[in-house]
Parts: sequence; C-alpha cells; structure tokens
Amino acid sequence: MRNEPHLQFRNPQSELPIRLSRRAFLASGAAFWATSALPCYAAATWIDHRSYGPFRCHATFPMGDLTPLFQELSALEAELQRTLAVPPAQQLVDVYLLENEREHRELLEQLYPRVPYRRALYVQRAGKGSVYAYRHSELAIDLRHECTHALLHTNLPMVPLWLDEGLAEYFEMPAPERASEHPHFSKLRWNLRFGMVRNINSLEGCRDLTEMGSAEYRFAWAWVHFMLHGPLPAHRALVQFLGDIRHGNPPGQLSERLARAVPNAERQMVQHFKQWRR
Ligand SMILES: [Zn+2]
Repeated sequence: MRNEPHLQFRNPQSELPIRLSRRAFLASGAAFWATSALPCYAAATWIDHRSYGPFRCHATFPMGDLTPLFQELSALEAELQRTLAVPPAQQLVDVYLLENEREHRELLEQLYPRVPYRRALYVQRAGKGSVYAYRHSELAIDLRHECTHALLHTNLPMVPLWLDEGLAEYFEMPAPERASEHPHFSKLRWNLRFGMVRNINSLEGCRDLTEMGSAEYRFAWAWVHFMLHGPLPAHRALVQFLGDIRHGNPPGQLSERLARAVPNAERQMVQHFKQWRR
C-alpha cells in the first residue's frame, strides 16, 4: 500500500477538517456511538492502555511486544525537535490500535462512515489528534508516519500539504535507515536519470490529497531530504518557515524562501541525490 495518495476529507458529521493517511481504503456507513472519551463499539474492547511521551495508546490486544516501537515513537518527538526545532507536543495524542484489519474497518466505519477506509489514519478534530491503525507487518511504518503528522499538528496551526506528507514520509523509516534507505531512493534515482523533477512550486499547488499521487509523495520526500541533508541554508529555510508558522507570522511560500537561500535549488537538489552516499 505504499505511496498511495493520502486523502483529505471533511468529517461529514462534524464538518471539522480531518486528515487521513495515504494507506488503504473503502467506505461504508454506520452510526457512531460513544459513551466515554474512548471510541466504544460492540465489536472491540480496549483492554490495554499505556502512555509513552505524548502518546496515549489504547489497544484491543496486549501491547507488551510493542514496547520498543512505542519507545521509538517517543524518541520521534525529540527528533523533530532536534531536526526541525518543533517543540515537544503541546497536547496528548490518542493512538488506537486494533488487533486486525476487520476490527479496524469496523471501528472506522462506525466513527467515520462516509470517509474512505484507510490502513492507518491521523484525525484532527477540535484541535485534538488521534491515530488509528491495526497490527500488521508494516504497523511500525504506519505509526511513525501518522505520529509525525500528529506531532507536527500539536504545535503548528497549519502545515502545507506537500510538506506535511514529505516530513511524514521521511520520518516513517526507523531512525538508522531514515537518511539512506527509504524505498523512495530507487525510483527517485530513475526519475532523475531521465530528467523528471517536480519542483516545490508544483507541489505547493496540491491543495487536496487527491492531487497527491506517488510521484508527489516521492518528490515531497526528496525535497525534505534535500533540506535536512543538503546545504545548511536550505535546512535553515525549512526551520525558519516552520518557526514562523508556529509563531503566527505569515510564512509565505517555502519555495520562495528556498530560492532566496539556495541558488538554483532544483539543480542542487538533483546534484544532492546524484552525490548522496550512505
Ligand atoms: Zn500522511
């Protein structure tokens, strides 16, 4: 399910914006019923609850074997602070984990009946972030991706869509593999070999997740990689851009800042990947 477009919908019940992951889908309808702060429904019972950093995790199965993953998610918060100067989460984030895909589908159909089903998703409602996922072989990737969205949005009133996805793609890999082993590398190198480049201006034009396909995800990731591992002024432009968003200063477009900070940014980005070595 990698590289599927990440869609953005409005919750048809609340009309509040919700953000959804790129992973998997199908939609159906049912009523949402809740008796407490936790989403409660007939087919699942939350039997394990744990807190790790800003994440409150609830699962329909014992989460003991996921402890290393949760510790990694807590470290993600410090990593965003170190690399992006994004401070620790301002609010707690609820992470709901289901035992299997069937349970996950049932829950999401009840909570968000008119929203296409996704393998994992991050939802923001009334300023509160929640992540929904289920246990499968790529759960760790899903959680790192969605929790990156969650951590960004607890601090920032907005993040441009392409940048939000580019950062989530970057941080979805385990820390030791983040810089050099993302699956995007191989396709990107083929793209660049044939002169196929998406500039930031075109990515900034994506207003809706339906406009972001696999190429948009790949180049969003590539620009983030360039800004994090390329020339220092590019990194500085990204950090200052996010800082202005956080402080309520009009941020303008990141493409304009990057153009001022790095001459011929597109050519430099291409060179960055041609020369990149593990
Ligand atoms: Zn995403």
